[in-house]
Amino acid sequence: MPMVTLLIATNNAGKVRELAFLLRTLPVRIARPKDLGLHLDVAETGSTYAENARLKALAFAAGSGAISLADDSGLEIAALNGWPGIYSSRAAGPGATDQERRALVLERLAARSENNRRARFVCHVALAGPTGILAESEGVTEGRIALTAAGTGGFGFDPIFIPEGFDRTFAELPPRTKNEVSHRARAVEGIRSFIERLVSEE
Ligand code: IMP
Repeated sequence: MPMVTLLIATNNAGKVRELAFLLRTLPVRIARPKDLGLHLDVAETGSTYAENARLKALAFAAGSGAISLADDSGLEIAALNGWPGIYSSRAAGPGATDQERRALVLERLAARSENNRRARFVCHVALAGPTGILAESEGVTEGRIALTAAGTGGFGFDPIFIPEGFDRTFAELPPRTKNEVSHRARAVEGIRSFIERLVSEE
């Protein structure tokens, strides 16, 4: 029986790496967009993580014909009313680097008089086939924003995010630890059994 292909519907190298690891035990053939010669830049026009994840999953499934798993995620900072949230990848304007986005977050927090550094990462995953959305799930990791950036692992805001129960940033912790407690790991857990059933029925 040929293996079902599961396309990781993102161009973000950090997300591809983590999703491939999180999905590694499933009986599917994992493909990245470039493995299928797919170059899709989906406009994130939704107003929620769920809407944006669905848009991306549907576009990649339509473009490839494969079952596609998309992730829309962001960092929500309590003292900044949840900013940058769904705008996390665009937080410092188009074309800004991860380092510029992290610097802006630290700067905005430093400008607050209160000392509330509570934050959380949210990840919504959507699974789509050529006929539409098949399943979705959301995961959250609570934590706080570090005073300064530290660590070289992970991607994006990892060097400034300290998950609850730890005293080091996601970028300082071993990748395995991040992949046990991350918002992405929790979101993937929510659709794991659906994918297993789907594959067994193919
Ligand atoms: P989007 O889902 O493509 O809109 O982008 C999500 C953005 O949120 C990323 O570009 C990162 O800036 C940030 N982000 C999401 N998940 C993580 C994570 O696990 N670590 C660090 N930053 C993240």
